[in-house]
Amino acid sequence: MAQHLIIAGGGSAGWMAAALFARLRPAPDTRITLIESDAIGTVGVGEATVPILQHFNRLLGLNEPEFVAATQGSFKLGIEFVDWGETGNRHFHGFGDHGAPIEGIAPHHHWHRLRAAGRIADPIDAWSMPALAAAQDRFAPPEALRGEAAEYRYAYHFDAGLYARLLRGYAEARGVTRMEGRILDVDRDPDTGDLRALLLEGDRRLDGDVFIDCTGFASQLLGQQLGTGFVDWSHWLPANRAVALGCTRAGRFTPFTRSTAHAAGWQWRIPLQHRTGNGLVYSSAHLSDDAAAALLQANLDGDAIGEPRLLRFTTGRRERFWAHNVIGIGLAAGFMEPLESTSLQLVQTGLARLAELLPTSGRADPAIVAEYNRETIGEYERVRDFLIAHYCISQRPEPFWRDMAAMALPDTLAHKLALWDAMGRIPMLDLESHQEPSWVSVLLGQRRVPRSHDPAADRPPLDGLATLFAQRHAALSAATRSLPPHDYFVARTCQAQAA
Ligand SMILES: Cc1cc2nc3c(=O)[nH]c(=O)nc-3n(C[C@H](O)[C@H](O)[C@H](O)COP(=O)(O)OP(=O)(O)OC[C@H]3O[C@@H](n4cnc5c(N)ncnc54)[C@H](O)[C@@H]3O)c2cc1C
Repeated sequence: MAQHLIIAGGGSAGWMAAALFARLRPAPDTRITLIESDAIGTVGVGEATVPILQHFNRLLGLNEPEFVAATQGSFKLGIEFVDWGETGNRHFHGFGDHGAPIEGIAPHHHWHRLRAAGRIADPIDAWSMPALAAAQDRFAPPEALRGEAAEYRYAYHFDAGLYARLLRGYAEARGVTRMEGRILDVDRDPDTGDLRALLLEGDRRLDGDVFIDCTGFASQLLGQQLGTGFVDWSHWLPANRAVALGCTRAGRFTPFTRSTAHAAGWQWRIPLQHRTGNGLVYSSAHLSDDAAAALLQANLDGDAIGEPRLLRFTTGRRERFWAHNVIGIGLAAGFMEPLESTSLQLVQTGLARLAELLPTSGRADPAIVAEYNRETIGEYERVRDFLIAHYCISQRPEPFWRDMAAMALPDTLAHKLALWDAMGRIPMLDLESHQEPSWVSVLLGQRRVPRSHDPAADRPPLDGLATLFAQRHAALSAATRSLPPHDYFVARTCQAQAA
């Protein structure tokens, strides 16, 4: 008999799950039902992504220009950080590196040596292709270029509701059944404790074999019904509110997300074709909701669309992501604030892991469940450390930032920063979410310059090294000038219908 997969929730996580499983586990071996409640609605944010979403879309076979047009999307080369570290500071975390290794050593070590010798003054961003292209609002996929200039990746900004709609169409066309209604309770097997069915409003019952909980912050199945505890990380990431507000498109149509630090948090700016998405993430212990809304409204670059919307959250994760026959995905599994757009990434990697590990029939062996939990916990913890690093190295003087700089860090992060300070190296741990160039961008971007560099970087002659850096920068600059403006590229290749 076909395995019946129930997906509870129809936000981005639910429809990503439905689309992926419809693609990888088609009927007749698997039957998929998604239940969602229009009355409850979705969280309605989550519009900036990271490059691995390209793999997800490619796996589904989505056509990129059609997908971008259908979601009012734009392209993202990385994140520009404004006023992070200290007021007036500006740096870019691009989706790429800072050049190929030189004599086997990552280029930031050589940059450090040249800088210490007074041979260069430019920040490391001058050797990042995405940073250079972003500074000029230029964009094309890397296939348009050759050599080192082509060594970058890109992601998207999109309207989350339109993306969910696109995936719903995809999933329903492949046999996924959508049900409307509220989940009120569950029926559990008295022997195993596994879920047997969801009990819905209107006296309906939905039997299933495996339940993917995508019910958002409510975590209806994993959290509420199974009582899976929550590991609270708000002592490390104390921002616990966001106020979101769209505005009309004005100013630059940037191929990047902007994150601007404020006294008690930071503000996002996400350019879409039909509007600009904005939000302020903050700590309620340091800023009132009214003050946050006023601050956001005062910092829009277009006319506000609608009213500010308040979102409350607690940073952390479920103790387990897979318990019995329930797997939490998306906000039902945990949440870390949207600083590096990692939530949809975690949805995608969680689903990919599940698709690899989930047996096609019968109960999963406990070892499989344990492995899923081990990998997912590791990945969440690596993302957590990367996010904390953005805050704890800041020199900003306000109480919120001073608290962040004074806190006791997770051991894994403390070790990373200590090794960085000593010799500019970032130890890569198991299940690392961000590779060394990302750490380098953020740490050097906030002027956390290490005391020394890898000793092997002292080998190449200094003059030759300085020439190589000048040549590389010139080549990247020339390549940047050959790229079209982002707005032109979007208009030519993936213009959306008028909203
Ligand atoms: C302020 C903020 C900014 C964010 N920005 C980003 C970003 O830039 N990039 C990024 O990757 N992520 C971001 N995220 C995270 C992102 O929004 C989510 O990861 C993503 O939208 C997935 O949400 P979800 O589907 O898990 O939950 P939701 O969108 O909340 O969906 C939950 C679903 O469950 C259903 N449901 C709930 N309870 C029941 C019930 N009892 N019965 C039936 N149905 C039920 C609801 O109707 C809904 O369909 C952000 C999050 C926040 C809070």
